[in-house]
Amino acid sequence: MYTGRLAPSPTGLLHLGHARTFLVAWWRARLGGGRLLMRLEDLDGPRAKPAMAQAALTDLRWLGLDWDGPDYVQSTGLEAIDAAARRLEETGRAYACVCSRGDVRSAQSAPQLGDAEPRYVGTCRGKYESMAAAVAETGRAAGLRLRVAEGTVTVQDELSGEHRFDVQAEVGDFLVAKRDRAPAYQLAVVVDDARQGVTEVVRGEDLLASSARQILLQQALGLPPVRYLHVPLVLDEEGRRLAKRHDDLSLQELREGGTDPRAIVAWAARSCGIACGPRVTARVALIGFSLAKLPRTPIMLDAETVDELRRAR
Ligand code: GLU
Repeated sequence: MYTGRLAPSPTGLLHLGHARTFLVAWWRARLGGGRLLMRLEDLDGPRAKPAMAQAALTDLRWLGLDWDGPDYVQSTGLEAIDAAARRLEETGRAYACVCSRGDVRSAQSAPQLGDAEPRYVGTCRGKYESMAAAVAETGRAAGLRLRVAEGTVTVQDELSGEHRFDVQAEVGDFLVAKRDRAPAYQLAVVVDDARQGVTEVVRGEDLLASSARQILLQQALGLPPVRYLHVPLVLDEEGRRLAKRHDDLSLQELREGGTDPRAIVAWAARSCGIACGPRVTARVALIGFSLAKLPRTPIMLDAETVDELRRAR
């Protein structure tokens, strides 16, 4: 049975870009009568806040979305993620690494721009027998990195087709457990998608490269593959992706300002190629949803549209 999931990170308020991606996930699941699960991805250390999780759930219900079964909170299932990390270590697929973020940066030959994860050059590969040995020998905290083979990994996207990533050349052996023993995002997603029986991951295109890493983890752990559908992002007038740090309008602000959620659904629906009037519910728009009509390129949200949504009471 088709099983999708909504996986908000409660590190900030949801914005219109999230609304569109989550609507696509909902349409995709509901069109075929599939299941849709909720997973709150609250592992991002101090940045994840319970109030943000509540706000995300309220915003999504306000938009008219529903999901099946109880909400799953990622931090309540850490044992399975830890067990997977241990299995990777025991089977030699992952190794202990005592490098700090600063060490990883300074070991690079050419610094990378932006906030992309720096490529790991393999400093600790083959150095230590185990996590315990690494800690004992160096007196430093140890994380765990997946041993990534050279070569390309293909991500088959339901919308945009085939993408090839050379994970070793792009990020190198990547972290599956951090030095404070917190699980790294990539492992948590893979373990939880398998545990929840997810068959298709629908999420923003910013995570396309992560899918290659997640495929490697599924293979290393012997977990079933999933399908991927990456939704092109919503950009502002300057071509930047929406983010709370740019003061982009949050769904909470629109909700509290009295906006009719059906106006937001109508904007998202039209931007997904669904013909509809100025206000529509997610359920009515569902009839018009098809992957063939979904644009393959990012869409722009101009100030005028934002103003209209603000006034659509
Ligand atoms: N929690 C992630 C986010 O909000 C999404 C993870 C995923 O869909 O795999 O960006």
